[in-house]
Amino acid sequence: MAATQFDLVADFLGLNDELRQRTKWPKRLITVTVPIRHDDGSVKVYFGHRVQHHLTRGPVKGGLRYHPKVDLGEVAALAMWMNWKCALMDLPYGGGKGGITCDPRTMSMGELERLTRRYTMEMIPFIGDDIDIMAPDMGTNEQTMAWIVDTYSTHAGRLIPGIVTGKPLSLQGSAGRTQATGHGVAFLACRALNKLGIKLTEATAVVQGFGNVGSHAAYGLANSGLKVTGISDVSGAIWNPAGIDTRKLRDHVVLRGSITGFTEADPIDPAALLCQPCDILVPAATDMTITAENAPHLKCKVLAEGANGPTTPEADKVIDARGDIFLIPDILCNAGGVTVSYFEWVQNLQRFQWTEREVLTKLETMLETAFARVLVFAERNKLSNRMAAQSLAVKMVADVKAQRGLFP
Ligand code: NAD
Repeated sequence: MAATQFDLVADFLGLNDELRQRTKWPKRLITVTVPIRHDDGSVKVYFGHRVQHHLTRGPVKGGLRYHPKVDLGEVAALAMWMNWKCALMDLPYGGGKGGITCDPRTMSMGELERLTRRYTMEMIPFIGDDIDIMAPDMGTNEQTMAWIVDTYSTHAGRLIPGIVTGKPLSLQGSAGRTQATGHGVAFLACRALNKLGIKLTEATAVVQGFGNVGSHAAYGLANSGLKVTGISDVSGAIWNPAGIDTRKLRDHVVLRGSITGFTEADPIDPAALLCQPCDILVPAATDMTITAENAPHLKCKVLAEGANGPTTPEADKVIDARGDIFLIPDILCNAGGVTVSYFEWVQNLQRFQWTEREVLTKLETMLETAFARVLVFAERNKLSNRMAAQSLAVKMVADVKAQRGLFP
């Protein structure tokens, strides 16, 4: 899918064959074996990957994923998408991604720690705070990042916090990182409403997913004056046309583990929730939730893609043909996370911590700039917002490759 998208964009940009090949293929694909001792004394060998899509515009940046389905192809596609996201936001990074094929839910903390430390050790020849900077992704978290900092720094003989982002605050993580992605989604969705001339205080929103991205998007939308009328998570969906109190829902989820049983809203079928009338629909759960089947029935005015790849290519065609939905594509809409990761890295290099207000203000400025560039490019070239965002990103990378020339 990533390669097909790239080819479409390269055709539109008219990239010559040389630049097309140099921009498409990853610079480095690294696969290592990661042997660790399990708690029962047995030794198991895991496979770990890291793909560095390109290093033309700076070090690569991207998450580390622990999941049974991780393979080199998936990691390569995710690295390519990270590459376009960083370019679109004008961050001085290429895209990267890593993963270990494992099931973290069945492993103890000790096993996960040994897995992380050994993987980091195997990656030492290929990473560095000016080469490749990892971050949390599915199945990894702040603790995983803390182990990577410790392993890398112990090897180097000094603390190098900039080797990863998404660290705990106590280990020079950044203020604002936790809410960054959802905050950015809400910010851009409100900008889209402004553009459509819809008053925020008269608008409604539906959010699919109430994890990191979905919950912070919901708080951000509610703080901006919108009514959040529907929310879902993996356990089900709830609906209240008068608006759901998102903070009360958060307290309920902390206590009960899911949104089920929240008494201030009615249960609703999760599939039907996506097709309820609303101004903003935020898919912030998994990929491929907006499909050719439900796309004709969506009743939103703005589709703000909080998740990565929530809309299938077939659904995209339906949305393009309808022409009545303003789509904010994932590489722009959820770029708040990687942008604040970039801020974390800059703070680490400066040895200077910014306040949450500074972080979020800088984030909004960068999102605003990227949003405006995408809209102007889309209007000028009669493109969908997705195609415009991808084209701008690929062009940025291809242009730098052309300027740098070919070694030797
Ligand atoms: P998360 O694990 O914190 O939350 C996921 C939420 O989705 C949970 O509430 C879960 O219950 C819900 N969910 C799962 N399946 C569902 C379904 N079928 N229907 C409704 N809800 C369902 O994950 P997250 O960090 O919030 O990430 C969500 C998406 O955003 C992913 O696609 C991720 O790749 C993307 N993303 C996350 C970040 C970030 O900073 N966390 C940055 C960019 C993109």
